[in-house]
Amino acid sequence: METCEHNELKKERHKRVFQGEEFLYEADTCSSCGSVIWNNTTEKEFNNWLNELFKGGKRHLFQVQYSLSSSANQLFQEMAEKYTGIDESALARAIVFAYLGASEVIDLEPLDELALSSELFTELKSGRRIKKKVQFKPHGMKSIIATANLFEIKLSVLVEECIYKVLFSKLLCDEKMRQEWSEHLIKRVDSLLKAS
Ligand SMILES: [Zn+2]
Repeated sequence: METCEHNELKKERHKRVFQGEEFLYEADTCSSCGSVIWNNTTEKEFNNWLNELFKGGKRHLFQVQYSLSSSANQLFQEMAEKYTGIDESALARAIVFAYLGASEVIDLEPLDELALSSELFTELKSGRRIKKKVQFKPHGMKSIIATANLFEIKLSVLVEECIYKVLFSKLLCDEKMRQEWSEHLIKRVDSLLKAS
């Protein structure tokens, strides 16, 4: 198949759906293949639109409802207590970005594999579930939606997995593993919380 070079462009109106809201925009569109050219200008318009939504009383569109098992929730709350003035939503947000950020620089796959075969991990996730909420900002929400789409998982699952993995890494008995993963992850959580 030949690649279309999008030689003939014309401005057309399009829409992009974000959390059920429609972003209407105009962009160069290829007359032969129909591709929409999403460039920096469109991205900027989209970001502005997101910010307006956020400021205009639609913060709930940037929230993710998730749940934790009661034992994981207890560990999570203990962790939250160590950071004065930080609410649980801020901690959850920091954990999600710490985990996703870490996965770009260190290999977290062995941690994932270990979790899958670990009784400790199964225990951590089992039992009564407690409903929770995390508030994101537009930029953060956009980025986790992209990640969830990439892995084809729900936003709640993405948030939960990041939290469970970070809590699990703290519980590892193996000193070396704990240092390698947990300390790296916690350092990231610390610095994200400091920056917020
Ligand atoms: Zn084209």
